[in-house]
Amino acid sequence: MSEYSFIAENYKIITDKLGEAMLKSGRSDAVRLMAVTKTRSADLVNFAVSLGIGLLGENRVQEFLQKYENYSKKCEINFIGGLQNNKVKYIINKVDMIHSVDSVKLAGEINRQAEKHGRVMDVLVEVNIGREPGKNGISPEEADELCDVVSGLSCLRLRGLMAIPPAGSGVERYFADMQRMFTDRKKHEHFDTLSMGMSNDYALAVKYGSTIVRIGSALFGERK
Ligand SMILES: *Cc1c(COP(=O)(O)O)cnc(C)c1O
Repeated sequence: MSEYSFIAENYKIITDKLGEAMLKSGRSDAVRLMAVTKTRSADLVNFAVSLGIGLLGENRVQEFLQKYENYSKKCEINFIGGLQNNKVKYIINKVDMIHSVDSVKLAGEINRQAEKHGRVMDVLVEVNIGREPGKNGISPEEADELCDVVSGLSCLRLRGLMAIPPAGSGVERYFADMQRMFTDRKKHEHFDTLSMGMSNDYALAVKYGSTIVRIGSALFGERK
């Protein structure tokens, strides 16, 4: 089987599973499938887009900038990886949303760059829901304060929350925690996006209200 038909087959499996999970959870809203592109060639990414995937997830600024010129560009691009303040300027006019806002400083820099480019940037606050040391994301206790700061910045639009819970059998509890946090914060205007669920757990994430599942290996195969 060629790499392309492998991806096409995986795409069908994933969309079937997503549809099934949506039905089972009785949800009437929508979930979006994001193709996570790290380590994949622009060619493979463009093929995924040609299948109907309208949303790409980028982790690494340098790799993204190298591939970006070769993207067919008929889709949305979100930044989902750890982001250093000094790299914001390179992506500010190339992405539609940033999922990884986890500090006041980073929010301030994105706001500053967005203002410079005369745009408003959609952002998610990333929550370290498993309270794992050394991991990106703001602690659950500090999330409210950061959401309030982001809401107050004129060139940011707070769209919701993102999480990468600890992998493994305990993940369901963290998805439930995230769903509760998300629902509790719907007082924020435009708050409509809950980004959680990856290759191993996306169906479960749908059960807990995820609106974007971020899928790499289940679509493209294992990363080398
Ligand atoms: C790599 C990555 C994913 C996708 O991981 P898979 O397990 O390959 O689906 C999702 N979200 C983030 C932030 C990632 O870095």
